[in-house]
Amino acid sequence: MRSLVKLMAGAAIVVSMHSAAMAAQTVVGVSWSNFQEERWKTDEAAIKKALEAAGAKYISADAQSSAAKQLTDVESLISQGANALIVLAQDSDAIGPAIEKASAEGIPVVGYDRLIENPDAFYITFDNKEVGRLQAQGVFKVKPEGNYVFIKGSSADPNADFLFSGQMEVLKAAIDAGKIKNVGEAYTDGWKPENAQKNMEQFLTKNNNKVDAVVASNDGTAGGAIAALDAQGMAGTVPVSGQDADKAALNRVALGTQTVSVWKDSRELGKNAAEIALSLAGGKKLTEIKGVQVFEGGPKKKKMQSVFLKPQAITKDNLNLVIDAGWISKAEACQGV
Ligand code: BGC
Repeated sequence: MRSLVKLMAGAAIVVSMHSAAMAAQTVVGVSWSNFQEERWKTDEAAIKKALEAAGAKYISADAQSSAAKQLTDVESLISQGANALIVLAQDSDAIGPAIEKASAEGIPVVGYDRLIENPDAFYITFDNKEVGRLQAQGVFKVKPEGNYVFIKGSSADPNADFLFSGQMEVLKAAIDAGKIKNVGEAYTDGWKPENAQKNMEQFLTKNNNKVDAVVASNDGTAGGAIAALDAQGMAGTVPVSGQDADKAALNRVALGTQTVSVWKDSRELGKNAAEIALSLAGGKKLTEIKGVQVFEGGPKKKKMQSVFLKPQAITKDNLNLVIDAGWISKAEACQGV
């Protein structure tokens, strides 16, 4: 009897060691779309930290703004043994087959920051419409009338249209009243600052520099737009929005060449996404994720299980928020002020 108890205890130890080893082996593959963008490095650090804390392994690939490369990246993450995937889609439609393949193999997918409209995937993001509202409000406060330019995001990223619809919600009344005129609106291919700069240059030329406000959809494109304004001696006189609380952008806010950025604490997004990926890899259903809600606002109106985090506008008046949160040091934010 005694030896049987001993044996069973031994087996229990073996079993628990085995499950600990299994847990330690959970591999989460992250497919980035455009890792050169500053914000994704913060997201990555948060994902890595949460996975490490759970004893899981992080593997990743960067599509370098290529939708085609992202398809092979996802396949490669799967063949490297990913038990769950976190995907920042370069192109929300083109990524479809990779998501279907993962689902067919029983590998859960977390659509990260950008919508992948396949109900088999989870969707975690910030409230992008609200980001758009905050961008337009920030600019509108300073310039309630005049010629407005809209530097939108990548057309392959559903966030571009969510942002624009939020911007329009805020500005529609003034546009309808003829107070605000839309004198230029363009998507920015791949969200690249150099493309935003080119578009801005064209809008300035087309309007003989009569541009009073720029609603740019993120900090990278804001930087491109501000470079074009600067070349005409107009930086700092025309309000410009952005998003991400990139370091360079926060410094521009402090210096007065950018009016508003929208801070999305991606440390939270990354942590939550990693934990969700682990829960799903552990067998939880999409509907069992903490705080889950149904989102049906995508172009295909599919019911997506989702979690939305809250964005925060940052202007010169509340720069202390990001400094106090340890997002940026005061010296970095206020350099040259
Ligand atoms: C994200 C932004 C980011 C942009 C470009 C968007 O989908 O929401 O935070 O700046 O992509 O990478």
